[in-house]
Amino acid sequence: MSEIYNFSAGPAALPKSVLCQIQEELLEYGNAKASVMEISHRGVDFMQVAQKAEQDLRDLMNIPSNYKVLFLQGGASSQFSMVPINLLRGKTKANYANTGHWSVKAIEEAQRYCDVNICTDSSVNKFTDIEDFSNWHIDESAAYLHYTPNETIAGLEFDFIPEVDMPVVADMSSSILSREIDVSKFGVIYAGAQKNIGVAGATIVIVREDLIGDVVAKQPILFDYSTQADNDSMFNTPTTFAWYTAGLVFEWLKAQGGIKAMSQINDRKASKLYQAIDSSDFYSNPVNPKYRSWMNVPFILADNSLNKLFLEKSYNANLLALKGHKSVGGMRASIYNAMPESGVDALIEFMTDFERQHG
Ligand SMILES: *Cc1c(COP(=O)(O)O)cnc(C)c1O
Repeated sequence: MSEIYNFSAGPAALPKSVLCQIQEELLEYGNAKASVMEISHRGVDFMQVAQKAEQDLRDLMNIPSNYKVLFLQGGASSQFSMVPINLLRGKTKANYANTGHWSVKAIEEAQRYCDVNICTDSSVNKFTDIEDFSNWHIDESAAYLHYTPNETIAGLEFDFIPEVDMPVVADMSSSILSREIDVSKFGVIYAGAQKNIGVAGATIVIVREDLIGDVVAKQPILFDYSTQADNDSMFNTPTTFAWYTAGLVFEWLKAQGGIKAMSQINDRKASKLYQAIDSSDFYSNPVNPKYRSWMNVPFILADNSLNKLFLEKSYNANLLALKGHKSVGGMRASIYNAMPESGVDALIEFMTDFERQHG
């Protein structure tokens, strides 16, 4: 049987060696005489897991010391609320870039807390392009600017960081750790773990210290960054298993050579897949090549009636979860860090064969 490659958008594939390590130590973690799932989050064994995971993430992303790293629950969607709650800081407006499905979700939630200024709107081009930054309408009196560096569904990814005179907030759920970024350019970075970090459950928040501690009144105490920061993300029981898994993924990333090495592989993986799509009349991708995602590659077949057959045959060829999101149609290959280059090669080979037979 050929190797199985999982192109799921999320929860997504984990590195195989990480899964094997989890399996190996699942029944007894180190000398704990119990599973990592069964021990106190305040005990010495888990504290070590937690601290090492944070340190490895700090090393990988080069996170400056004036930033807190929080391991929270609630998914990226919880940050759609926590960001306005913590960052409005007495102001009544926030800038939001609308570049796709997840931007829309963030905007809808922020509108419950403040006036949202949509400073750029890619819905006019069906989320296939990003407006030149010089044409954005930034409200200078707003508390912050929120954007989504990689839109997971349409496969639209920024190649720049918006430069503004206010904190920049980024939902990096589907692009964190995929390429080098300068953390100091951001006020808050957040990401659900189930795409590029580990298993569903944990949500990582990297927040500049001076933005912590001035919250909108009468909000849940767990939604106050200072509650979480002051208690090292252990005000209540954290997602211990997801935190542990994230730590294993960080160790794996370090062993691969870190983010710089991963970004070179990711660039190569995405380039060859787009190249295969562009060089055929049978497949297409509508996104402006400048803003095509390295992580999520949607493509449509010229003949929609072949979608079902494509999905059946690809599944039988051990290429999983290629069905596109219903709002875009066609296919989507999510090729996060854990997808080896050989998986992209296998997909391209399958696509070429399929076109030969049905094109
Ligand atoms: C998946 C995803 C989300 C939603 O994450 P949850 O953890 O399900 O809340 C938000 N933003 C982006 C960019 C995503 O890819």
